[in-house]
Amino acid sequence: MEQIITRFPPSPTGYLHVGGARTAIFNWLYARHMQGKFVLRIEDTDTERSTQASVDAIFEALQWLGIDWDEGPYFQTQRFDIYREYIQKLIDSNQAYYCTCSPEQIDIMRQKAMAAGDKPRYDGSCREKGLDKSDKAVVRFKAPLTGTTVVEDVIKGHMVFQNDELDDFIICRSDGIPTYNFVVVVDDITMNINTVIRGDDHVMNTPKQILLYKALGSPLPTFGHVPMVLGNDRARLSKRHGAMSVTAYRDMGFLPGALINYLVRLGWSHGDQEFFTRDELIDVFNLENIGRSAGIFDLDKLLALNAEHIMAASPGDLVDPLKPFLKKAGIEIEEDDYILQVIETLQPRSKTLEDMAEAALFYYLSDISYEEKAARKFLKPAALEPVKILTEKLAALEDYSHSNLEEVFKAVMDETGLKLGKIAQPVRVALTGRTASPGIFEIIAILGPNRVIPRLKKAIQFIENRES
Ligand code: GLU
Repeated sequence: MEQIITRFPPSPTGYLHVGGARTAIFNWLYARHMQGKFVLRIEDTDTERSTQASVDAIFEALQWLGIDWDEGPYFQTQRFDIYREYIQKLIDSNQAYYCTCSPEQIDIMRQKAMAAGDKPRYDGSCREKGLDKSDKAVVRFKAPLTGTTVVEDVIKGHMVFQNDELDDFIICRSDGIPTYNFVVVVDDITMNINTVIRGDDHVMNTPKQILLYKALGSPLPTFGHVPMVLGNDRARLSKRHGAMSVTAYRDMGFLPGALINYLVRLGWSHGDQEFFTRDELIDVFNLENIGRSAGIFDLDKLLALNAEHIMAASPGDLVDPLKPFLKKAGIEIEEDDYILQVIETLQPRSKTLEDMAEAALFYYLSDISYEEKAARKFLKPAALEPVKILTEKLAALEDYSHSNLEEVFKAVMDETGLKLGKIAQPVRVALTGRTASPGIFEIIAILGPNRVIPRLKKAIQFIENRES
């Protein structure tokens, strides 16, 4: 079978948004699944709106997602010679022509067409004039006047377009800049792209592009138009629905694997499985199961999936992604046993890396400050005796193993006649400043005597001062 070659051709007019990322992911996954090739092409012919900053932002987002490309990046602005050559081919084969109609003339044609109940269109005035190239001339494609153009779309199915609805569209402007539909086709032909998966906002371009393929004598690629991503109000996803850029999700503490998983599931299914690792997706992704209805972006679902990915990760894989979040809180970490244990305790209770960093602070701060409510409720005189007894016993304990700690707590319970909760909650506040944290034995074991004993002593002092 022919090798599958897909592509992602973003226009660098802003950051990579989640809808665009989803299209990139579909093409990348399909190429990886089929052991094909994935090509990156920067569509920067709109020089007024394209910026280097956007190109950089797109690379950064793709790299963070782990979407690697086998060819490119190609830049359309570096390919004008190729486009010129293909325009000449169409002119030479009498499938394109120069047109010198002025904007005013075209306006009149359009108005006439509309008055006759037709779509506004160019009337073909210059089609048979055989005009030569000139400063003011655009190049128009000689579109067929009759018949139909059929799009066999792997997602949308069989679509038929009437050729007489199309006019002789411009393929090169008078300033020599070729137009979008033309360059896409030339690029896809010359880059041997045989599978085009893109947003269904491009459906209306496809019949024009198919006519160009035919005129250039090239085989058609497989087309698949993916429904758009919508917001919860079913309007096309936009800024007012929340963060749009891929890197904003990185900065909120999402894992790339979770965002990929979420975006893929938003429009593709494999039974009712929700959680996929990257490798699993590569293994099972196909085009047949891309859905026909639009996906609705739901941040809560993404958060839930992110929590699952955090839970499934090995602690070592979370160290680097977590670093910037801890750094924001002034904590610089190295990869050591301590952070690995810290992460392990926080994995079951973090929806994002930001949550995780926040919850990790007590492990690192040298001075714990108590949440006011927590201190009021738990660091009170009744807690003094059990905390004091526990402190003595822990000071004498060498090995902070789970079973030793359990025994120590049990001894304190026996001596004081208190239930575990009455002892554990003040201790938790003493060690973390809060009423919620990972398991009390876990945190004592990880913090170790050098952190635990001073924190307990500080809490004892706090209670005593409060008593007086
Ligand atoms: N540059 C186009 C866009 O960003 C891509 C169109 C295509 O995939 O053919 O929408």
